[in-house]
Amino acid sequence: MLITNNLGYPRVGPFRELKKANEAYWAKKISAEELLQTAKEIRQANWNTQKNAGIDLIPSNDFSFYDQVLDLSLTLGAIPARYSSLLDKADNGYSLDLYFAMARGFQQDGIDVTASEMTKWFDTNYHYMVPEFTKGQTFKLSSEKFLNEYNEAKALGIDTKPVIIGPITYLLIGKEKETGFNRIDLIENLLPVYEQILSKLADAGAKYIQIDEPYLALDIDAKTKALYNQVFERLNSAAGNAKLIATTYFEALQDNEDLAVNLPVHALHIDLVRGENQLDTLLDKVPSSLTLSLGVVEGRNIWKNDYQKSLTKIQQAVNALGADRVWIGTSSSLLHVPFDLDSEKNEETLPAEVKNWLAFAKQKLAEVKDLAILANGDVDATTAQHFEANKAAAESRRTSPLIHRPEVKERVSNITDEDAQRTSPFASRKAAQQAKFNLPSFATTTIGSFPQTKDVRKWRADLKKGTITQEEYDKAIAEETENTIRLQEQLEIDVLVHGEFERNDMVEYFGEQLAGYAFTQYGWVQSYGSRCVKPPVIYGDVYRPADMTVRWSAYAQSLTNRPVKGMLTGPVTILQWSFVRNDQPRSTTTYQIALAILDEVQALEKSGIKIIQIDEPAIREGLPLRKADQQEYLNWAVRAFRVSSSNVADDTQIHTHMCYSEFNNVIKDIAAMDADVITIETSRSQMKLLNAFAGDFKYPNDIGPGVYDIHSPRVPSTEEMVDLLRKAKAVVPSEQLWVNPDCGLKTRAWPETKAALESMVKAAKILRAE
Ligand code: GLN
Ligand code: ZN
Repeated sequence: MLITNNLGYPRVGPFRELKKANEAYWAKKISAEELLQTAKEIRQANWNTQKNAGIDLIPSNDFSFYDQVLDLSLTLGAIPARYSSLLDKADNGYSLDLYFAMARGFQQDGIDVTASEMTKWFDTNYHYMVPEFTKGQTFKLSSEKFLNEYNEAKALGIDTKPVIIGPITYLLIGKEKETGFNRIDLIENLLPVYEQILSKLADAGAKYIQIDEPYLALDIDAKTKALYNQVFERLNSAAGNAKLIATTYFEALQDNEDLAVNLPVHALHIDLVRGENQLDTLLDKVPSSLTLSLGVVEGRNIWKNDYQKSLTKIQQAVNALGADRVWIGTSSSLLHVPFDLDSEKNEETLPAEVKNWLAFAKQKLAEVKDLAILANGDVDATTAQHFEANKAAAESRRTSPLIHRPEVKERVSNITDEDAQRTSPFASRKAAQQAKFNLPSFATTTIGSFPQTKDVRKWRADLKKGTITQEEYDKAIAEETENTIRLQEQLEIDVLVHGEFERNDMVEYFGEQLAGYAFTQYGWVQSYGSRCVKPPVIYGDVYRPADMTVRWSAYAQSLTNRPVKGMLTGPVTILQWSFVRNDQPRSTTTYQIALAILDEVQALEKSGIKIIQIDEPAIREGLPLRKADQQEYLNWAVRAFRVSSSNVADDTQIHTHMCYSEFNNVIKDIAAMDADVITIETSRSQMKLLNAFAGDFKYPNDIGPGVYDIHSPRVPSTEEMVDLLRKAKAVVPSEQLWVNPDCGLKTRAWPETKAALESMVKAAKILRAE
């Protein structure tokens, strides 16, 4: 029988038990013991689920209260100096207080330290805490979490495979906190601690240890390549009788194939979802000592596996290597998919036919097991049935009229270059828009949302529960919108917004109104810490059956003589923050969404909305991991945005908005989006981000650099904002500048919002007078 290998399991709990326990602990509503108990129960349930599914290599140390990278930093004693006061309080260098202080900052008992920086884990929507490195930094084994969890499972009768992020990847995902060294050179200091970890696990009886080295599937330089061999030599000897599994995911090995197959390890795990065809070149290179673990069941998306397709690959590997050197596994950790499809009972938002195309973490375990049995050939009646059901589901997906809308496909294939191009160049548009709106220099605006107070959220919840009527709900939203318009008039903001009170979330709101979308009840995936997201599911051809935003935008515009911006989410962001189809290229799905957004843009324009903002905060994060693939992505992403925004009159002003983005290297592509105005988040970087707009390449259209941080309740002074605007003016010509906050205000309360915007308008007026 082929060995089955799971890389990692989601840990928030089927109903977000860990999130709730963490938050209760932070609010001091439960004790540390209670939190630890919840965690233990989740781990046990996860291990038992995997055991019952018949998985051979079950991960341990994949659990985390907050983030597995943070766990590792604490294990390695990589604790930045600013936390030293907490370290003293902690017994044996590790405590929940210290841990959560590094995760979330700490402000208590006269101690005031900031949290670690957070960034996206490769191209996922999971965020990890960035390790911080200093010159000559040393490491010291400071926690035995990896060992405790291995022993905990063992006591339950489950001999697990501990999972550790490898030392090279650990260094590469971190950041130098001072100049004068390269973090990869810390490897010599780091390795002894890894050796300790491995030998302790081996002594405890671990038979297999998974070493995650996703960088083996990414662009790495010659020096790093050379390092891989040396590092694994050392790890391998430290591991004694435990067998190492060098584990890659999220990309194909490509130019690192030779390096990877010749590492001194027992097994190599490859991602056969992202690197679909890598077996073709790889199998010939695999030495007779190496076992290959095939990641065929996708850890990043929620579709059922196509058994027939997977079996072809498995057969190809078995033919070359023999069944005893081929394992079947998940492509990556299942951290990135929801727990259990069986919990989904709402047929209105997730029709049975669509549900039959899906597999969540628990179902994916069963798929891995089925594939192992099917590949083995000695198939029992139940598995044979599963195979038939799998074929039927795949066939239904290929042909279902729920998915396939010929008129949508046709519209996408008919998109022309003209459809992706405004009629006139920016300069003439700007003149036409100026003639129409007559806005002052340093025009002021906001990014869209205003405070989503408890009341606003309660109205939405009450409407859903049916405790208030649609009329009552609409009346409440209308009042809130009107108040917000009046406030903006009073503040003398130039371009108003309606406030987005009717929206739950900037993607879900559109998904709910677009055809081709389904929604889950419990499809939560960890985003960072206790924060989970529930991405909507794009299963079919997307189109827009009716107006989505016209009603509230037109209503807001009817209340005032100042221009009100229409607010839309862009096609790439809608794509990025959903579970997407795997039966057509991402670009095709994006173009379908782009056409739906275009329809809405035109409907807004017709209803008298002449300034329309299309938010694209996720365009940068969609960038492929391998450099060679990036330009192609940028080309279609930018083109999709242009399709959504170009077919409008010259004097219709298109804005876009992007937060938390790095613009270096992509500034020309951002400019190619050709929005009349782009608003960006710049205040926390003290306008440094603006430099990308004013380097050798000068960004040609208008820019609204954020003048204050909306993530904090702190009210900035007029002087601070004047100061930032002067900095902006030093690099970007005044005629190009707008004045606005960094992002939407929905997480803020009203008092600080009013105060901050008042100061902001004052700052703009001061700049106008200069
Ligand atoms: N228009 C959205 C808002 O103001 C933009 C949110 C975002 O960029 N993340 O809330
Ligand atoms: Zn934003």
